[in-house]
Amino acid sequence: MSAGQHTERFAPSPTGLLHLGHAYSAMLCHDRAREVDGAFLLRMEDLDTSRVRAEYHDAIEEDLNWLGITWDGAVLRQSERTGAYEDALTKLSARGLTYPCTCSRRDISEAVRAPNEGEPVFGPDGIVYPGTCRDGTADGDAPAAIRLNMAAAIDTTGGDPGLRCLAVTETGETGHPAMIDSDTLLNGTGDIVLRRRDGAAAYHLAVVVDDDFQGATHVTRGTDLAPAVPVQRLLQHLLGLRAPVYHHHRLIRDEAGKRLAKRHDALSIRELRRQGVTPEQIRARLGL
Ligand code: GLU
Ligand code: ZN
Repeated sequence: MSAGQHTERFAPSPTGLLHLGHAYSAMLCHDRAREVDGAFLLRMEDLDTSRVRAEYHDAIEEDLNWLGITWDGAVLRQSERTGAYEDALTKLSARGLTYPCTCSRRDISEAVRAPNEGEPVFGPDGIVYPGTCRDGTADGDAPAAIRLNMAAAIDTTGGDPGLRCLAVTETGETGHPAMIDSDTLLNGTGDIVLRRRDGAAAYHLAVVVDDDFQGATHVTRGTDLAPAVPVQRLLQHLLGLRAPVYHHHRLIRDEAGKRLAKRHDALSIRELRRQGVTPEQIRARLGL
C-alpha cells in the first residue's frame, strides 16, 4: 500500500449475519476501491463480547467472498487492538479531557427524566449524557466507564472558530453538514463514552484509532452513522489522527419500508443464498 493511495474499509460487527444493507456498504466501498486501483480493507468490530460470535465472523467473510468481494491483507480485529485504544485514552486523560462515570443506563434515563429536565435529547449514542459524574463525583469503587468531557475538548480547539477548521469532506447523498459546531457537539452529542464499564473501548474511540491505523482515506457507510462524524472528527483532532473523506449512503429497507436490522434474517445474505438468489441479482436489487 502506498501513502495516499485511495483506501476504503468495511467494518462490520460480527453480532449477526450480513444483510442487504451491509452488502450495499461493502459493495460500494469495494467497487470504488477497485475502480481506482486502491485498497479495500476488512475490519471486524468485535468489541462487544456479550454479542459477538465467532460463527458470525466466519459467516460474514464467507458471504463477502460469495458476493465477489475480496480484501487486501489480513482482517483487523478490534479485540486485538486494546493497547492502541488504551494509548489513545491515556493521551486524552493526560490532557484532563476525560472523567470516570459509574452511572448505569437506568441512572441516566432517570436523571434525564427528572421533572426539571425537559425532553431527553438523543445523540449518536442514544440519550445524551446529563453530566451527572462530570464534577468528579463517581463512586471510587464501582466499575466506571470513561467519558470525554466535551466542553473541555471543545475548549482545546478555541471553540467554534477552531471547530470550523475541522470541517470534514463529505461526498454522496446525505447532505450532512461538513461544518462542525459546538452546539451539535455539546448539546446533541455530549460526553460520550470512550471506554465502557466492562473495560472495552467504545465505538467512536476504536473507529478513529483504527481508521488512522489502517490508513483509510475514505469511509463509506450508512446515513445512520452520519451523526457520528462531528465527534469522530473532534477525536481525530485531539489525537492527531488523519481524517478520511466521508460518504454516507441511503439505508436499505425491507418491503414494508422498515430499516434492516440484525433480526431481519429473511433478508440476510445467507437466507437469500439458500433461496437460490445470485450475487448478480443482489447487485441488481441494490441498483449496483
Ligand atoms: N461496526 C459498525 C456497524 O456495523 C460500522 C462502523 C463504521 O463503519 O464506522 O454498524
Ligand atoms: Zn455518571
